[in-house]
Amino acid sequence: MNNNPLLQPYNTAPFSKIENKHFLPAISKLIAETKSEIDAITSNSEAPTFKNTVEALENTGEKLERATSIFFNLNSAETNDEIQKIAQEISPMLTEFSNDMLLNEALFERLKTVYNQKDSLNLSEEQQMLLDKKYKAFSRNGANLSEEKKKELRKIDAELSKLKLTFGENVLAETNKFELHLTDKKYLSGLPEGVIEAAAQTAEEKEKKGWVFTLDYPSYVPFVTYADNRELRKKMAIAFGAKGFHNDALDNQQNVLQIANLRHKRANLLGYKSHAHFVLEERMAETPEKVKSFLNELLGKAKPAAQKEFDELTAFAKELDGIDRLEKWDGAYYSEKLKQKLFNLDDEKLKPYFELKNVINGVFTVAEKLYGLHFEEVQNIDKYHADVKTYEVKDDEGELVAIFYADFHPRAGKRNGAWMTSYKPQQIKDGINDRPHISIVCNFTKPTASKPSLLTFNEVTTLFHEFGHALHGMLANTHYPSLSGTSVYWDFVELPSQILENWCYEKETLELFATHYKTGEVIPMEYVEKIKDSATFLEGMATLRQLSFGMLDMAWHGSDPSGIKDVKAFEVAAFDDTQLYPDVKENCMSTSFSHIFQGGYSAGYYSYKWAEVLDADAFALFKQEGIFNKKVADRFKGFVLSQGGTMDPMELYIKFRGQKPDPEALLKRAGLL
Ligand SMILES: [Zn+2]
Repeated sequence: MNNNPLLQPYNTAPFSKIENKHFLPAISKLIAETKSEIDAITSNSEAPTFKNTVEALENTGEKLERATSIFFNLNSAETNDEIQKIAQEISPMLTEFSNDMLLNEALFERLKTVYNQKDSLNLSEEQQMLLDKKYKAFSRNGANLSEEKKKELRKIDAELSKLKLTFGENVLAETNKFELHLTDKKYLSGLPEGVIEAAAQTAEEKEKKGWVFTLDYPSYVPFVTYADNRELRKKMAIAFGAKGFHNDALDNQQNVLQIANLRHKRANLLGYKSHAHFVLEERMAETPEKVKSFLNELLGKAKPAAQKEFDELTAFAKELDGIDRLEKWDGAYYSEKLKQKLFNLDDEKLKPYFELKNVINGVFTVAEKLYGLHFEEVQNIDKYHADVKTYEVKDDEGELVAIFYADFHPRAGKRNGAWMTSYKPQQIKDGINDRPHISIVCNFTKPTASKPSLLTFNEVTTLFHEFGHALHGMLANTHYPSLSGTSVYWDFVELPSQILENWCYEKETLELFATHYKTGEVIPMEYVEKIKDSATFLEGMATLRQLSFGMLDMAWHGSDPSGIKDVKAFEVAAFDDTQLYPDVKENCMSTSFSHIFQGGYSAGYYSYKWAEVLDADAFALFKQEGIFNKKVADRFKGFVLSQGGTMDPMELYIKFRGQKPDPEALLKRAGLL
């Protein structure tokens, strides 16, 4: 224990000293330590104050936080069987610890005493936010309820977690149950070579001849996008849309109804009108009414464009293949064909202009031009894998802003996708501004013996996206770690990331870094134009689709669902305004809508579009004043990137922009106006 590196003082994470055997004892010890820190607060004989209760609570568990962030970041980026096994032990320990804390009545009583005096305490806006956040963590978990109602709440929570689990298991089982087994080569017409190879491999794994396609995205999506055989596309699409809707043991209709009703009951118990009212209390959008009018406003503007695109696509399909009525299984296929015809732009043409090394320098240059940040690669920081790059980030005065880790390429032990995370939060404590340690992890194309790492354009925007989150973390400048950096409302957190993607489409930016890896030639303007145009291709239809999901989500969670008996009929009604394709009677979206019935997106699906409105409207100001305009950048840094969750996000946004976000900017960017 004495030489456990996670229990010694450290600044940057001591990766090279940590062995797997250190995690469990360190984290158990740190949980116990945090518990005593909390006991010290509750047993304080002095009357509760902001300092001895709220701030004291904020300061508990600092070492625990750091050790768990190291552990879980490794479990995502550099895991193995042993780490996964340890996670199975650590996760329940942490859940139990946080549940116990939220049920700690003595602690809640002290918080409540301070909370009830909040208007007379002369707190700064940031302190008020902290108090509010701490108090609500308890009250939203039932701390104010009578014993009897608390019991009822626990019962609902237990039932809900079981139902959500079952819902997810059913979707998974339905996904795995179906396969399209083909043995005749003629049915593969239209499919790219790589897709066919993968299907042959799947067949081999299942000890079958020929090719097997499944409902997993990497198999399903290319199939319906490229397969020329319409009947087979139909078969796949119907199977995909019927998950959990077969009136058998794996059917999810009753689960959907029960989840919606239990959530509603839970919200009522806590004093909210609906589940959406409960969720949105802690979102920038605030209320279901605001979300609904937001979605409806976009719908009104996007629908004519979507209808026009749909008619064009229908005409294209008719001209090409004599199709009279465009069905759901035709959408992806003819969209792709039309896109090829209009743009003829593929990744292979673009990739030579996006060598990873250049793109990294590009994103650093953007950060320098906007925010005066300087990145210097350093070799003296401990890392968890030789591929990880480490940087010191300094401002114009040479002061340290952050430590930045970047981990770019896939390897066994790293999960898919790309994400930003942190190893140490920023905070100002005892007058010292402690700077954060931020990391991004990606899975970009690896270099080969003959070629450096060349990125697809999609990978380029992904890097800018994650780097945008990283800037939010690096430029944080707040007192309390729980309000610092990306610790903001869910529907606000994608603003810093999505806005940065906009720079990738600008000539001024591309000229900085998009040069051919062999010839050094700057990317041709013709390509840049095509990238821009193809980015908004069929955007009206895509918008309508996103809106339809958001509306279905709000229909389930925005009012009392106890009168709903028929899941499919309810869904058809909720989709009424947003459908372009004929309904498919065998299909139901809700029974496999894992985002809202299993994951954390209930009453939150709108946030995808919400964040787009924010980033388009915010970027419009940069476009107007110049994309590297220092004044606009200073305001974005001052009011958004540095403020974290210390203020209401709408207030912050208005301070930056001078007005509320206007959806028109998004519609314009998407070419829908
Ligand atoms: Zn993001």
